[in-house]
Parts: sequence; structure tokens; C-alpha cells
Amino acid sequence: MTSIHRTRAIAALLIAAFAACTVTPRALHAADTPPGKVFRAGAYAQDITPQKFPITVNGGMRDHFATSAHDPLHARCIVLDDGSTQIAFAICDACMIPREIHDAAKAIASKATGIPTSHILISATHTHSAPTSTGVFQSDPDNDYREFLTQQIAAGIIQAYKQLEPAKIGWAIGLDPTQVFNRRWLLRGDSVLADPFGRDRDRVKMNPGFGRRDLMRPAGLTDAEVPVVALRAVDGDRPIALLANYSLHYVGGVPGDQLSADYYGAFARKMTERVDHAADAKPAFVAAMSNGTSGDINNIDFSKQRVTGRKPYEQIDIVADSVADAAMMAYARIDWHDWVPLKIAQRELTLGVRKPDAAELAAAKATVDEAHKRDPVLKTLPEIYARESVLIAAYPDTVDLKLQAIRLGDLGVCAIPCETFVATGLELKARSPLKPTFTIELANGYNGYLPTPDQHALGGYETWRARSSYLEEQASVKITQTLLELLDEVAK
Ligand SMILES: [Zn+2]
Repeated sequence: MTSIHRTRAIAALLIAAFAACTVTPRALHAADTPPGKVFRAGAYAQDITPQKFPITVNGGMRDHFATSAHDPLHARCIVLDDGSTQIAFAICDACMIPREIHDAAKAIASKATGIPTSHILISATHTHSAPTSTGVFQSDPDNDYREFLTQQIAAGIIQAYKQLEPAKIGWAIGLDPTQVFNRRWLLRGDSVLADPFGRDRDRVKMNPGFGRRDLMRPAGLTDAEVPVVALRAVDGDRPIALLANYSLHYVGGVPGDQLSADYYGAFARKMTERVDHAADAKPAFVAAMSNGTSGDINNIDFSKQRVTGRKPYEQIDIVADSVADAAMMAYARIDWHDWVPLKIAQRELTLGVRKPDAAELAAAKATVDEAHKRDPVLKTLPEIYARESVLIAAYPDTVDLKLQAIRLGDLGVCAIPCETFVATGLELKARSPLKPTFTIELANGYNGYLPTPDQHALGGYETWRARSSYLEEQASVKITQTLLELLDEVAK
């Protein structure tokens, strides 16, 4: 057993131990239903595919444009109501969505439905083949699409609200350890790599490629859990909606000139085929796959041989099938409740911004000016990160992040506006007073990668200062602490 396999085996055991603790929710009894209260749910998948092409696509270091959509993009909306508290979810096929779009969509939806804005969770799936609504690297947002996206997310929540009907709710945890791999690899011995700022300090290489001899093992764990929350009508067995969660960055394999909802969309289609009576349900059944804590997790196993010859969308289909099978295993074990209490707590957390100092800023400006004399499109990582340094220098010294903790019966859900590392998600699962708990990342804003302090110390892509990674190095610790306080609040 190599050290890689040993690490994997230990990780698998840890994950199995987590699962064993969390698979069976503590049963709530019918006596828990307060008199006169009816549990209700409504769901609607609102199309958010752009109507104009070509359109900018983000997710890369350079901008590129799509000329068509291979499959539609959606904001998959679910509204829950326990008779006194209402909570709305909107899981959107987007790479990342900035705070201002979240806030504007919530304001519109709140005005129409009466659901407080603080009771709405909107998140991006992190498909890398969706229109740019946040400026990252050399992709600038399409302003018409930002406005369209805002209106469509709100419309989806409003329609889900209109479709509220008496419902049963249940949840369970599936497992799929086969599609998640930690993409940050530790280098052997004391070797280091240069970062884009010219410092020889990276002990980790993200997505290192195959066949390298300088790698030791992945620098972190994975999370195999596939939590599933399901809603079904009280009249008969018609399913209403299903909200799943999995800690996988995205899959990819989408041609550069096409938009796609990646495996998140494929999962939704496959669950509609698999869940009994879902395909012909009226109103239409809505399945949504939310992103867990996948800042350092991808779908490529660098410890094996490279898989070659996959056609576009083939890997998306393989992953969606595998995760849908795990979700169905969970679905079959669901313990249905007539009523559960809903609670949500939200808090703003102020965090510092890692800004360049005066000397770093002057050097960055010189690098960008020099590069721009040659070409308006920056080509090298030092040039691209120099431009990011200039842009980050204009940021305020601190930013406010919106955090949420939600209680659905005995189930906990956390929301973090970052590309959150898996260790943070595992810690929240382990320490939450609600069992099980899962986290939806890239929710309610976009504040870049969230490495833990020990991963910051190892360096690597996710730690390089840019608009995609700028929070203070203690950010994950402060976010975890705040979320545990919020979980305590809702668990009372
Ligand atoms: Zn990402």
C-alpha cells in the first residue's frame, strides 16, 4: 500500500465513520406537530439560459465566448413553510454570483412573497460553462445577463412560493467516494515551486498532471457524502422536489463555445428519471444539486493513469449517473415527516482583505503596463496575477460576508459565500449540534477561495492573491466559529 493509498484508506474510514453517525436522523414524532400547523413545500426550476449569444463565459484565466447552450441553465427554487417560518432556496447554474445580484434578487422575491430576505439562500453550482456575472481574471461580466439573472432568480422563487402545497419532508445521506479527489498535491521532500509573485514557497501543486515524480500525496481529504433532502405531496406519492449536495468542484469536458449546467444539470435530469412518479409530476418535479465544500476537490485521480478519449459531456454523464445512484440509495432510506420546525439565522462577518503593500503594488503596475504594450490580453501567470494585485489594491481593507445556518427538523444546512475547502465542511459536519449537517458553498455572495490556515501555509493556486482569493488567512477559522454559533442558535 503506497502512502497515497494509505491516505485514501484512512480518509475513507473517516468518511465512513462520519456517515455511520449521520445516516439515521433522530425521528420526530407526530406529537411534535403544533396544532393548526401544516408543513408546505413548492418548487420551480426557472430557466436562466441567456437569450443572446455570443456571451462571455468565466471559469478560466482568459475570457472566452459561447455561441450556444448545449443544455439549459436553471435557478432551481424550493420554498418551505412550517406554518410560521418560510425559507427559500435557489440553486443556480452559474460559476459564481456576486453579492449585489443575490441581494437584488432577494429584495424582489421578498417584496412579492413576504419571505424575509434573510430567509432566502441563493447559491451558484460552480459550473464553469455559464455566462460571466462576476469579474474574475480576464472575464468581465455581461451587464444585460446580470440584470436577466437577477430577475429570473426572483421569478423562480416567486413561482415556487405560489406552488406551496401541503407536503412531507425527509432526508438521508448517500455516499459516493468514487468521484471526488483532493486536487492539491504535496511535493516530495523539501522541494518548492515558484508562485506567480516570484516567491519560491509553494509546497503544493494544484491539478499537477499525470506521471510526475515530484509528488508525495494529496494535501487534504475528500468528503464522499451525498445528502438528500426530499419533499413530496401529502396526497399520494407525487414527489415535489429534492435538494442534494456533493463536494465536487465541477466536472467539465464542455466545448469552449457551449454553455452547460455541467453535472449539476445532468444530475437533475437523471433524478427526474429515477424518482418514482417524478417524470410526469404536475407541478414539475425539481431536483437540485448544490455544491458542498469543494474548493480543493476535483474529479481527476492523479494517482492513476490518465483517462483519455472521453467525448464532450461523457465524463459529466458518468459522474451524474454515479452521484444519482448514491442519491437514490439515500432516497430509499428516507424517514418521512408530516411536519418539522424550520429555523434560519443569518449574520454578517467582517473579514480582512489580503492587499499588496506599496512596493508590491508598484511592481505589479509596472508588470501590467509593460505586458499591455505587447498585447491587451495577458498571457503569463505573473502578468495575470500582477493585474489582480492592482485590482485588489482598490478593494476596501475589510469586507462583510453573509453567513447562514438553517435548521430543517434535525438537519442542519450552512451557507458560505466562498469556494470552501473540504476540511471546513468536514469540521462543520463533525461539530454541528444538528446531525446531519451539510454546507452549501458559493451562497449569498462571492468572496473567493477559502483555504484553511494550514493550506495557506502550503501555498498553491487557491492561495494566490487575486479577486478569486483575497480573504485574510484566518478567514476559515472565523467563518467556522460564526457558523457554529449560528447552528447553536437554530438548534435551540
Ligand atoms: Zn473554482
